[in-house]
Amino acid sequence: MSEHDTTERTDATTEKLVELAKRRGYFFQSSGAYGGVGGFYTFGPQGAALKGNVEDAWRDRFAVAEGNMEIDAPTIMPEPVFEASGHLEGFDDMLVECPDCGESHRADHVVEDNTEYEDAESLPIPEVEEVIAEYELVCPNCGAGLAGQAVEAFNLMFDTNIGPGESQPGYLRPETAQGIFVEFPRLKEYARNQLPFGVTQIGRAYRNEISPRRSIIRVREFTQAELEYFVDPEEDEPDLESVADVEVTLYPADEQNAEDGSEIAITIGEAVEEGIIANEWVAYFLGVAKPWYESVGVDMDRFRFRQHLSGERAHYAADCWDAESEIDGNWIELAGFAYRSDYDLSKHEEHSDDRFTIFKQYDQPKTVERATVDPDMSYLGPEFGGDAQAVVSELEALAARDRSAFEGETVEIELEGETHEIPAEKTGFSVEEQTEAGEHITPHVVEPSFGVGRLVYTVLHHAYREDEVDGEERTYLALEPEVAPTFVGVFPLQSDDELVDVAQEIVDDLREAGLSVTYDDSGNIGRRYRRQDEVGTPFCVTVDFETIEEREAQRASEDASGDEPRAEETTVTVRERDTTEQKRLPVDDLAETLAAIREGDLTFDDV
Ligand code: AMP
Repeated sequence: MSEHDTTERTDATTEKLVELAKRRGYFFQSSGAYGGVGGFYTFGPQGAALKGNVEDAWRDRFAVAEGNMEIDAPTIMPEPVFEASGHLEGFDDMLVECPDCGESHRADHVVEDNTEYEDAESLPIPEVEEVIAEYELVCPNCGAGLAGQAVEAFNLMFDTNIGPGESQPGYLRPETAQGIFVEFPRLKEYARNQLPFGVTQIGRAYRNEISPRRSIIRVREFTQAELEYFVDPEEDEPDLESVADVEVTLYPADEQNAEDGSEIAITIGEAVEEGIIANEWVAYFLGVAKPWYESVGVDMDRFRFRQHLSGERAHYAADCWDAESEIDGNWIELAGFAYRSDYDLSKHEEHSDDRFTIFKQYDQPKTVERATVDPDMSYLGPEFGGDAQAVVSELEALAARDRSAFEGETVEIELEGETHEIPAEKTGFSVEEQTEAGEHITPHVVEPSFGVGRLVYTVLHHAYREDEVDGEERTYLALEPEVAPTFVGVFPLQSDDELVDVAQEIVDDLREAGLSVTYDDSGNIGRRYRRQDEVGTPFCVTVDFETIEEREAQRASEDASGDEPRAEETTVTVRERDTTEQKRLPVDDLAETLAAIREGDLTFDDV
């Protein structure tokens, strides 16, 4: 859909990372025992923990810190929802099938990968067919010519039947957003009918992608973290002040269209002032998102916000920017920030029986003039029979629309294509003053929509490092402590009973402090360090014979003096992953010190 891929390159890092991900339990293609199936991945123990930590960090920032609500809606929804949302009609990608091998491809990608077209998605289908013929494009799988093959619109939603039979078609949601929109009539009650308010959801979305590729970047089932922020477009304003100084790299549409266009470094405040980001709400959320992405470990030298080109915007979006990360020279879309206006709520209001508006109270009640009719039914009844009520409705609508229609002797109305004249005196037309306390308005929606899997992939990619330690090559993941799946590894130097006992005590202590801990006593200590480096564990604690000696010395002094042992006297080696620097730290403070580092209140240097 709103993908924007430049010609793909993969490099050695990707290959090594994907191999590491599978071997060490980050992610791997699912159902491998049955040959695997394209576009479905399982997050292993490390991956699920990393993904969970990223989701928690997102929740903290976009739900808790912003004061928004979170919901959890079903992933299957009935057809009328998607009729209303426009997905049934417009959630298509362009499909071209190879006449020889039968493989399906995204026609716009075939064009983009092999011609100078950068935004083939915005071209009409006949033009894409022409480009394929003109450039004699071939099947990426088998090399057969694709010229003359029909390009078709392919709807990306997975369909199913709800209950037995086919009477109630349903779809797996292609975005979590619709689960929020359809519940708006209830959610607004929880928000006490006060705008602005935001609703978040972290959950699965499903898209039957034509050609899933690049490991977990384009899959058929993925996790989204979305915020739908409902505002009164006339009155509500974001707190731009709070993000005005955030520095961002922007790639506006003008720059993308210009021959020598390039990204620009600017603050959010300046970008709004200069009209580069037109919508203040979108600007606000870009300003919130940038430091958040940095905090979970996206490399800011490989990150930008790119504005959608006009042909690229989704069917609902009035203005849209994507967060993008660079991987192997390709930019991938991490999140979309769209101003969806009142599109979704208006559509659901139109298609459903519920109200998707908010009653907005005026500061002072307003006196307004209302034109009304009170038709004489003893005239309309005999004159129009069964159609009399329809005539009343027409007269009411006409009075609201055009008062001057009631100024003559007769009033003209249209009923089923026929014009009828009604004596003005029989309509009971009058203009009355009414006092109104408020009005029903349809809120506008700003939507930051994050893909979690792509972010996990980016975080891993940007954290991948190779260096040399003591003359040996090592691979490590420089993951942020906040998101690393395991925070600390604890090792006894050897499998000696005393060492093992102390190590186990430390494991219990650290777990009690809420840290994620792994215990490892197999293989030599160097190998154990490498194992933790490779999965990105920020710290390792080693219990050695010095620890035991210190402890024995303490006990002896305690026996001799009857005093409590002095805590600082038992120490362990704590090793930091990136620098491999080692320090001896007291056992008793260990949990507190490491927890403070994880919270970002302390650095290893400070210890
Ligand atoms: P969209 O609604 O297309 O703007 O998607 C919102 C976000 O969901 C994107 O920015 C991606 O991070 C993520 N996303 C969309 N499609 C896929 C997919 N097929 N696989 C993985 N993530 C996706």
